[in-house]
Amino acid sequence: MNYQKKSVRDIDVKGKKVLLRCDFNVPTKNGVITSDKRIVAALPTIKYLLENGAAVIACSHMGKPNATFDSFVKKQTEKGADPATLTEDAWKKSLKKLSLKPVAERLSELLGQEVKMASDVCGESAQALAAELKPGEIMLLENTRFEKGETKNDPELSKKLASLADIFVSDAFGTVHRAHATTAGVTEYLPAVCGFLIEKEIGIMGKALADPERPFVAILGGAKVSDKLNVISNLLEKVDTLIIGGGMAYTFLAAKGYTVGTSLLDSEKLDYCREMMKKAEEKGVKLLLPVDTVVSKSFPDPIDGPVEVCTVDSDKIPADLMGLDIGEKTRELFADAVKSAKTVVWNGPMGVFENPTLAKGTIAVAQALADSEAITIVGGGDSAAACEQLGFADKITHISTGGGASLEFLEGKELPGVAALLDK
Ligand code: AMP
Repeated sequence: MNYQKKSVRDIDVKGKKVLLRCDFNVPTKNGVITSDKRIVAALPTIKYLLENGAAVIACSHMGKPNATFDSFVKKQTEKGADPATLTEDAWKKSLKKLSLKPVAERLSELLGQEVKMASDVCGESAQALAAELKPGEIMLLENTRFEKGETKNDPELSKKLASLADIFVSDAFGTVHRAHATTAGVTEYLPAVCGFLIEKEIGIMGKALADPERPFVAILGGAKVSDKLNVISNLLEKVDTLIIGGGMAYTFLAAKGYTVGTSLLDSEKLDYCREMMKKAEEKGVKLLLPVDTVVSKSFPDPIDGPVEVCTVDSDKIPADLMGLDIGEKTRELFADAVKSAKTVVWNGPMGVFENPTLAKGTIAVAQALADSEAITIVGGGDSAAACEQLGFADKITHISTGGGASLEFLEGKELPGVAALLDK
C-alpha cells in the first residue's frame, strides 16, 4: 500500500468548501463531554484550513446510534427491553444523546469563533448552512451515523455529502480501516487528501513498516493470540526481534511444550504458534517470550482488587496457578531489547495492567520506550492509555489515535480510508 498521500498542504484550499472528516467520537456523560482530547487533536488541521481561506464543513460519527426506528426496536428487543417502552419518542431520545451539539459548543470555545450546527447530516439544514458558509467559517454536521447509509458506504449518501463541498479532507485515523460513506465513499466524488493527524499516522507508521531504522523491535501483548494472528505473521516479515508478552504468551509457551497452569490458553492456536516460531527461525527473527511469570491462584475479582502473587520461571508454572504478568527477569530482558533498537512498535499490555500489582510488566515496557532514543510507536488502546496515564506520552515518538486502525496497519492490511486519498 502506498502511504505517500497528499495532505492539505499539497492543495489550494482558498475559497473552497472543505468537507472535513474528524474523529469527534468523544466520551460524554449526561450530555457533557468528559474528555475533549479528540477535539483538541483536530484543531491544527481545522485552523490551517480556516486560516488559508477555506470554509470548513466538519463531520464525525459519535457512538453507535440506531439510524432507523426498526433497528432501534430490534436492538432493544435483543437486549430484553419491555416492548411497551419502544416508542418513536424513546428512539428519538436515544439519538439526542448522541448529538454532536456539545462538540460544536466545545469546538467553538476552543477556536474562539462560532461553529454553526446543522440539525441533520445532509438534509435541508446542512445544505442551507453549507450554501451560506463563507471562507474562514466553520459548521458541523450532525452525527454521520444518524444516516443508515454511513456504515453501508451508500453511494447516494456519499454523493449527497460530496455535493456540499469542493474538497474532502480525511483526518479521523480511528475510522480509516472501515469503508464508510464519510471515510471512503465521498472520495469517489471529491478530490481527497489527508489532514495533519492522518499525515502523521501514515508517515511514521508507514515508514516504520516499509523502511524501518534497524534494529526493528515489535512488542505484542494483550489477551488472545487469535486477535493478533495476522499481526504476528506480518511483523515476522519485517522485524529483527519480536517480543510476545501478556496473555497471548502462554499459548506460545504451551506450544514449546511447557505447562502453563491455568493461564489463558488458546488451545486451537498451538499449531499456529509452532508455525510462527518456525517462521521466526527461518527468517532469522529473534522471538522473545517471558522467562519468568507473575502467578496467582485466580484472576483478581474485582479486576483491580487485592491479589496474592509470586513469581515462577515460565517453564515451571505450577498446574494450579495462573500467569498474570511478566516477571522481573523478563522485564529486564524486554527492556534490554528495546535499548538496542532503533525502531520500536508496541501494541498490547504485558499483563492484567488494570490491577496495580499486575501492572509492573506493562509499566516496565512503557518506561523502556520512554527512555529509548529510538523511534517509538505505540498502537492505540490499552498500551496508549498506559503511556498517557504514566505521563510518558511526550517521550514517545508517536501514539496512534486509532486502536483498530493501527492493528490493521500492523497486519499489513490496506486501510480503505487511506487508500482512497490522492497519491503524492
Ligand atoms: P487486548 O484487548 O487484546 O489488547 O487485551 C487487553 C487485555 O488483556 C487487558 O484487559 C488485560 O487485562 C488482558 N491481559 C493481559 N495479560 C493477561 C494475562 N496474563 N491473563 C489474562 N488477561 C490478560
